[in-house]
Amino acid sequence: MIKKVIAIMDTMFALDGGAMFGVVPKTLWSKTNPADDKNRIDLAMRTTYIELNDKKILIDTGIGHKNNEKFDKIFKVNRNQDLMLNLGENSINADDITDVIITHLHFDHAGGNTIINENGKLVPTFKNATYHIQKDNFNHAMSSPIRERASYLKENFLPIQEANQLNLIDGNQTLFNEIELIPQYGHTIGQQLVKFNFNNETYLYTADTIPTSSHINIPFVMGYDIQPLITMKEKEILLKQAVEENWTLLYEHDPFIMGSKVIFDGKKYKKGKEVTDVD
Ligand SMILES: [Zn+2]
Repeated sequence: MIKKVIAIMDTMFALDGGAMFGVVPKTLWSKTNPADDKNRIDLAMRTTYIELNDKKILIDTGIGHKNNEKFDKIFKVNRNQDLMLNLGENSINADDITDVIITHLHFDHAGGNTIINENGKLVPTFKNATYHIQKDNFNHAMSSPIRERASYLKENFLPIQEANQLNLIDGNQTLFNEIELIPQYGHTIGQQLVKFNFNNETYLYTADTIPTSSHINIPFVMGYDIQPLITMKEKEILLKQAVEENWTLLYEHDPFIMGSKVIFDGKKYKKGKEVTDVD
């Protein structure tokens, strides 16, 4: 049984607002997500921690610390915050993490997978954990797809394989009888969303299929997505079920809220009641 769920921030960062909303005009998206002087919008990188029986599970690992100053400047990474610090504040020790579920290997989700140790060697950050990644996503990332070359950095996943800490997941699977992994192919190949029940509520960690509550509206799809029409279909399937079964969506990148319900007004899906805490 799931005993505890905590949303744990990695950091705030920023991405180009146009890229975050694809074909949607700035006059529309800037109402909810105002851009800075470089046209970037603020985004959160919010991971989730789950305790299930004797398992201590982390979903995604954030941006990590291997990037240089130029990278931090381009992406406005706030270095006053980070995942390790926030795990510590919640009395969670990195060495106690047994499982890491990676939604996909883009740098903002998997950058914290590895660290450079005192000998200058890249090693897994969570040395006692099994890292669960869709096989399709791992193979896709390994193939260095040209459109996503800046997003898939091998330093974030090769050391996991070398350390024998990788578990490749094949399609829709349930981990430890309670955590459903739902594969997606619109944003990238083999992303996985994470669904679970806790305290009589169903939660869906929506990763980059619905990165913020501003993306609930089906045509609001990121320009980064490699197959946007598939993203729209995937969103429709999930949102319909979310309304029917009253799920709470947990947003990895929403700068303002950690989650919300979804409502359908007869024409489109919208943000419902906001959620500030999982319990
Ligand atoms: Zn992302």
